[in-house]
Amino acid sequence: MSTKQTLSFQAEVAQLLHLVTHSLYSNQEIFLRELISNASDACDKLRFEGLNNSALFEDAPNLEVRVSFDKDAKTLTIADNGIGMSQQEAIDHLGTIAKSGTKDFMGKLSGDQKQDAQLIGQFGVGFYSGFIVADKITVESRRAGLAADEGVRWISGGTGDFEVETITRAARGTSIILHLRDDAEEYLNAWKLKQVIAKYSDHISLPILMEKEEWKDGELINPSDENGGRQPGGMVKTGEWETINKASALWTRPKKDITEEQYAEFYKAISHDHEAPMTWAHNRVEGNTEYTQLLYIPAKAPFDLWNRDKKAGVKLYVKRVFIMDDAEALMPTYLRFVKGVIDSADLPLNVSRELLQESRDVRSIREGSTKRVLSMLEDLAKHDKHDTTAGADGVTDVVDADDKAKEGKYTAFYSEFGAVLKEGLGEDFGNRERLAKLLRFASTTSDAVTVGFADYKARMKEGQEAIYYITADTLAAAKNSPQLEVFKKKGIEVLLMTDRVDEWALNYLQEFDGTPLQSVAKGAVDLGTLQDEAEKKAAEEAAEAFKPVLAKLKEALKDKAEDVRVTTRLVDSPACLVVQDDGMSTQLARMLKQAGQ
Ligand code: ADP
Ligand code: MG
Repeated sequence: MSTKQTLSFQAEVAQLLHLVTHSLYSNQEIFLRELISNASDACDKLRFEGLNNSALFEDAPNLEVRVSFDKDAKTLTIADNGIGMSQQEAIDHLGTIAKSGTKDFMGKLSGDQKQDAQLIGQFGVGFYSGFIVADKITVESRRAGLAADEGVRWISGGTGDFEVETITRAARGTSIILHLRDDAEEYLNAWKLKQVIAKYSDHISLPILMEKEEWKDGELINPSDENGGRQPGGMVKTGEWETINKASALWTRPKKDITEEQYAEFYKAISHDHEAPMTWAHNRVEGNTEYTQLLYIPAKAPFDLWNRDKKAGVKLYVKRVFIMDDAEALMPTYLRFVKGVIDSADLPLNVSRELLQESRDVRSIREGSTKRVLSMLEDLAKHDKHDTTAGADGVTDVVDADDKAKEGKYTAFYSEFGAVLKEGLGEDFGNRERLAKLLRFASTTSDAVTVGFADYKARMKEGQEAIYYITADTLAAAKNSPQLEVFKKKGIEVLLMTDRVDEWALNYLQEFDGTPLQSVAKGAVDLGTLQDEAEKKAAEEAAEAFKPVLAKLKEALKDKAEDVRVTTRLVDSPACLVVQDDGMSTQLARMLKQAGQ
């Protein structure tokens, strides 16, 4: 029996719908990408569930998406024969937003349409994007495995509520019927639809079909007047369906057959990013575990980069069947900004996700992919700055165009993701040295965050035995710290660290390439051979002479300071605070205090 019920959208959905229809206006056509991607996900899910239950395929084993339109009714329909939805699933999935972070996301919206549209794109409004072009959406669906009379119809005008009722539907899967707004009628046109699908959905591995059309001349009304006597001709449907996409997953195609645009569009489709990626790597990895990897580094950080629990952007496929997009199984957390696809032919298909995560093959894929990302970054770092000065032979190096395109990219990458990368020092011991080489800091000789440990070492003074650094909240605070005085006087470079994670990360890095790292704020800075004998002697004499004063000061500061010493580290300032060598730095102490510890 068909009983109709009207239900309200979850508050966030109602709010989101309002935003979608009002802000995404300038980028209307993405609705088609979202709906086709849902259809494709639904087919992936059926394929996955079907591995253990082939009855789910019923009598339609060929999975596909059909796009059709009705000019008179002004409807556009996207139909798939994927997993489908039960009535409860339709209520749950099309009336609420299950994604974590929705509230956060809402809080980030600024009210500025252009900016918000970008955020919404990143967040991926998915199904609700249909309301950009439709003032009413009807969804008809039946879940694979349920009886024909257990279908569902879901209707909404995209405002406060939606209706659901039970229907009989012979075909498994889902039809999304968009009742187009007057200003979206351009989508009632096969050419337009094909163009948008080619742009956004060509990489989809399942066939997208449209009904073939033919040109039909208008009827001759007045045979004596060949030109004026005809009704206008038009395209008519032929009843025959044709596949309009390449229908082969992008990553399975040979590199040489894929254009930069196609790589970029695929990236946008899987990342919800509006911008093209900074770089990518597409490889077939052979060896013990064979797999294909297509990994992207975004140009801009997403709004939720700091959410360490967020789902990673790397998806695992086994022989083109989507298996999981579990973050940590495929990428370490500190590389959570990487997007892409890994497709393996070796993994068993019909094994639980839990077991997969523990599999040796998955671990080796993760290691291989981590290394690949690090080499991509190393490559960017290597080409970040070109030495355009003439070499010793007086001939300027030839710079090839590809390398030229990489100039400045690492600095740009680092300003977006550098702080996240540093988490790797504590997380990925195996790659710590490679990571350390990728770190960049500002220093007393460079305000720009471009100094690597290797650059620093190359500039070290004769006799200098440590890499000196200081941590502070801001660059200005770091630069003006009294603790730097003696270093300035002696012309010794000091790295200025102002990221919140620096302090924590440096706990995991005691040295670089054999040279110890030394905080200028800790203990008695020993400048070793950089200090001349006369200075040492003067310091010792001063310590003797000031003994009574020091004793008084110590007494006065009994509860506040552990020790009071004469120092050579100051030049202009009368006094400064330092911590003991094994003590927590002032910066870290402040951070912990802020965090309530
Ligand atoms: P997402 O795809 O990121 O999960 P969407 O808003 O695009 O978010 O879709 C919400 C949910 O609705 C999907 O997760 C899925 O459960 C369901 N859904 C949407 N379209 C379909 C479809 N064509 N077939 C089956 N389920 C669908
Ligand atoms: Mg979706």
